[in-house]
Amino acid sequence: MTKFNEEVLSRRTFAIISHPDAGKTTLTEKLLLFGGAIRDAGTVKGKKTGKFATSDWMEIEKQRGISVTSSVMQFDYDGFRVNILDTPGHQDFSEDTYRTLTAVDSAVMIIDSAKGIEEQTLKLFKVCRMRGIPIFTFINKLDREGRTPLELLAELEEVLGIESYPMNWPIGMGKEFLGIYDRHHNRIEQFRVEEEQKFVSLNEDGEIDGVHPLKDSPLYEQTLEEIMLLNEAGNSFSAERVSDGDLIPVFFGSALTNFGVQTFLESYLEFAPVPQARNSTTGKIDPLSTDFSGFIFKIQANMNPAHRDRIAFLRICSGKFERGMTVTLSRTGKPIKLAQSTQFMADDRSTVNEAVAGDIIGLYDPGTYQIGDTIVTGKDQFEYERLPQFTPELFVRVTAKNVMKQKHFHKGIQQLVQEGAIQLFKTVKTEEYLLGAVGQLQFEVFEHRMRNEYNVEVNMERVGSKIARWIENEDINENLSNSRSLLVHDRYDKKAFLFENDFALRWFQEKNPEIKLYNPMDRS
Ligand code: GDP
Repeated sequence: MTKFNEEVLSRRTFAIISHPDAGKTTLTEKLLLFGGAIRDAGTVKGKKTGKFATSDWMEIEKQRGISVTSSVMQFDYDGFRVNILDTPGHQDFSEDTYRTLTAVDSAVMIIDSAKGIEEQTLKLFKVCRMRGIPIFTFINKLDREGRTPLELLAELEEVLGIESYPMNWPIGMGKEFLGIYDRHHNRIEQFRVEEEQKFVSLNEDGEIDGVHPLKDSPLYEQTLEEIMLLNEAGNSFSAERVSDGDLIPVFFGSALTNFGVQTFLESYLEFAPVPQARNSTTGKIDPLSTDFSGFIFKIQANMNPAHRDRIAFLRICSGKFERGMTVTLSRTGKPIKLAQSTQFMADDRSTVNEAVAGDIIGLYDPGTYQIGDTIVTGKDQFEYERLPQFTPELFVRVTAKNVMKQKHFHKGIQQLVQEGAIQLFKTVKTEEYLLGAVGQLQFEVFEHRMRNEYNVEVNMERVGSKIARWIENEDINENLSNSRSLLVHDRYDKKAFLFENDFALRWFQEKNPEIKLYNPMDRS
């Protein structure tokens, strides 16, 4: 195998999907510690305020005048190079959070054992499913009282509609947490014992041979019974189904006490997919092809008006990046020299000179790129598959404060919409402008950039959350539009209804069964 192939095949690129507080920051930090990318625990958790994480980049980026709310962390472990992409949540939830999932080859889903599947996890899970991205689950906080593992597993399969395979199984929980029964390695990993006693190997029947204190515990007996149940009635393991995204491997552990994290990491690396081939206008592009190519999945605007430059995040899909190389932007056919590039690390940002398929780099963007852009080298000029459209849930009505600024207003909206920062709709009858987003942050960024980049103050009037559904048969009676089911055009002039709530949607469908509605996120 060539050195280049070896490099590419060592890449594992994933995002963590979770609901706030499930333990994403804590787990990320522990993973980075294993990789030696950070020195001390607590580095990822905020230094000063305790509020921000390095994975949020806030402190560093504030100093540099750039707010990068999502980032990429890289570390080496056991011959692998791991790229973790942050998926911002809370107030920072935006279409970028979804788009990040287009740039990974797998996802790690963290679940709080006391809470089960929560709203944001479910949203992100659905995007992974729609993209066919394999998911690995880490059920966290076993050192606390939570729901029973069988209950959690049942919920996982029921709510997500996907089969799962527990790679390990907890022995007790909370105060009585004794460890995990590791089915994959046929051993028990004990919680809070001396390092030498940590692993207890099991015999062919999956039991402890000889004398061992664990055997006196009724929890051990219970675990054996549950394991038997899983062996008989549960799904069987299939590496192929895991990499196809049809079977979710489930791990139990406790990120905070760093228990089960290394076992998780090692099993993850064993089964996680290598950089995958991606669809393009000329068919699938092999990551091992030596022609460099990639696509922009996110553009981070600078929130500091003194520094207009932006960072475009590029997923390398094939070949090797070398600083200073000249590439072609497929949309325009124009050549670009990639002189300024950035690699994202946990501690600091450093200039990257080389990166290969599977890696993510940041390109200095004076306004050249749009989200979804493909860049290529080589004779073939192709474009990667268009990024999916994400259904907005929040809406505002937008106007320019000063009517004399209409020209700037339109130019600004047009460019920001094209860039993918926000979605634009026009009401059918009244031609009012509505902006749609998946998270509040997008409106704030929009307002800020309109002021600083286009010199326009905007009025944004809350319309609130709506259920957006596009219309299959476009020929529609405009009189069906009212405040509870508002008919709008999207930026491609496709018609959609914005429904007040679920009830309004159902009512409308009952009254108008001939109108076929769809959610683009259920499609791709
Ligand atoms: P994030 O919002 O998903 O990034 O969650 P954090 O990593 O910030 O964790 C949220 C809270 O849960 C913090 O107070 C953590 O200390 C705590 N936490 C994380 N993992 C564990 C765990 O394994 N056990 C316990 N008891 N607490 C945890």
